[in-house]
Parts: sequence; C-alpha cells; structure tokens
Amino acid sequence: MYREIPSCMLRLSSIISRCNVGEEVSSSLVDALIFALNSASTEVEISHVHISATTNGTNGQYSNHYKRRAMDISGINNQSIYSNQSSEEIKVFQESFDNYSDIRENFGPYFHHKLGENHNVGGHNDHIHVSTNNCQ
Ligand SMILES: [Zn+2]
Repeated sequence: MYREIPSCMLRLSSIISRCNVGEEVSSSLVDALIFALNSASTEVEISHVHISATTNGTNGQYSNHYKRRAMDISGINNQSIYSNQSSEEIKVFQESFDNYSDIRENFGPYFHHKLGENHNVGGHNDHIHVSTNNCQ
C-alpha cells in the first residue's frame, strides 16, 4: 500500500512543502516521517520541513528512491540544511528517525547511519536522506 505524504502532519500541524506534489511513497516511509516529527517535537520545534525528493531526482541505479522508500529533506523551519548543519533541530530530527523501527538509511550532516550503524558514505551536508526497509 502506497501513501501520499500528507500535507499537514497531525498535531504538529507542520506544513510539508514538496517539489513533487502527489508522489506516492511506501506507508512505512510516511510513518517514519510522522514518527520522527512527533518524537522530535518533544525536544525542538519543527514547524516546517521541505522534502526535496522522493521518487524524483537523479540517483544511483539501485537507489531506494526508485523503490518508493526514500526521501530527501533539504530544509527545516524554512532554513536550508546546508546553512544550518550543526543545528539542534537536525541532530534531534536525525536521532528521531533512527528510533523508528523500520529505518534503513539515515544520512545527514549529523551522522551517516545504515540500520543504526555508522555507514561510510560521503556527502549529505545539504540534505537528510532517509529510507525504510519496507517498500510497501
Ligand atoms: Zn536521497
């Protein structure tokens, strides 16, 4: 079952802006986003996130983006990830994604984790890439 990323996120009433309105992604990925927003909100205020990619963009041939189970977040609270790499919001948001039960990849400025372990991958200082194990 695929789900569209909701444009407003429950009690956070965060507004999600997207370059790719209407793209459907795995339910697990949507749940990961909701989980991370709710979890992070106990420590920091996240009122807005910008999702720059789900299934769109140019990625590696075997990218999880094409499996509908990955997304890139390039901004939080109307600030680019790149301009604010050491912010508390990014740290808490990445840690919150890591606490989601089905998290697979979690690459961003704060750490690069795959299945909860440090992963040797470059880049990701201008966005947070997250994926889940479940494609559905
Ligand atoms: Zn990505």
